[in-house]
Amino acid sequence: MSRSVLVTGGARGIGRAIAEDLAGHGHRVAVTCRQGTPPAGVHGVTCDVTDPAAVEQALREVAAIHGEVEVLVANAGITRDALLLATPDRDVDEVLDTDLRAVIRMAKLAARAMLGARWGRLVLISSAVAFTGSPGQAAYSAAKAGLVGLARSLAWELGPRGITVNVVAPGLIDTDMTRGLRPARREEYLAATPLRRAGRPEEVAAAVRFLVGDDASFITGAVLPVGGGLGMGV
Ligand code: NDP
Repeated sequence: MSRSVLVTGGARGIGRAIAEDLAGHGHRVAVTCRQGTPPAGVHGVTCDVTDPAAVEQALREVAAIHGEVEVLVANAGITRDALLLATPDRDVDEVLDTDLRAVIRMAKLAARAMLGARWGRLVLISSAVAFTGSPGQAAYSAAKAGLVGLARSLAWELGPRGITVNVVAPGLIDTDMTRGLRPARREEYLAATPLRRAGRPEEVAAAVRFLVGDDASFITGAVLPVGGGLGMGV
């Protein structure tokens, strides 16, 4: 069944792969982007997810074009890597605003329409470092761990209305975000990854497709790691 899907941060990286995958499987997909162009066949909405008015407008625009959002994939995210003691407060705020507060706000707005439909899917893109911690990523890890608490609380609040809320926790994935990693840090990640390689955005997209599809109808509050085994068991 074709669903109205909104993926935040869908012009590049993991979000783009998710949007392409879901559009390729027949869904009506829209993405938010601040710059760049959306994939072919995907509607692009200009939106900074930290701007509440822009988020409301984006959801209205998608509803008008594809119908009320039935599937929200909260993917947009940033890092500002530095040891916490050397991190300016504004960087901490920026990470928390983008990676946590914006997700809470968007989930709240999207869930409102899903309640009426008594069906919906929320997928939050977290990270393996939410569970392992990561030196230089204190605020990022805190935000990504916060998404797990958010998802599990919403799973309780929205479950009775047929809405599932799940988390995908990628490991090291090759995108713009990880391109700048110090080679030594990248090696550490690979050494901690049983599959001994970085993942591809398409591999994360496949997990998201599973969670939004009918085969995942009885799965909520789950964390699905997509990290080649990075952090397993944590
Ligand atoms: P990229 O840096 O390649 O892309 C980040 C995306 O987020 C871009 O589409 C960007 O939009 C969007 N974005 C950032 N800030 C905002 C904002 N304020 N408003 C709207 N959009 C915004 O990262 P990835 O594709 O690698 O990451 C996607 C998600 O996966 C993130 O949440 C990240 O934390 C998570 N993740 C990534 C891992 C990895 O190894 N790559 C590992 C674990 C988790 P724009 O193009 O407009 O800048």
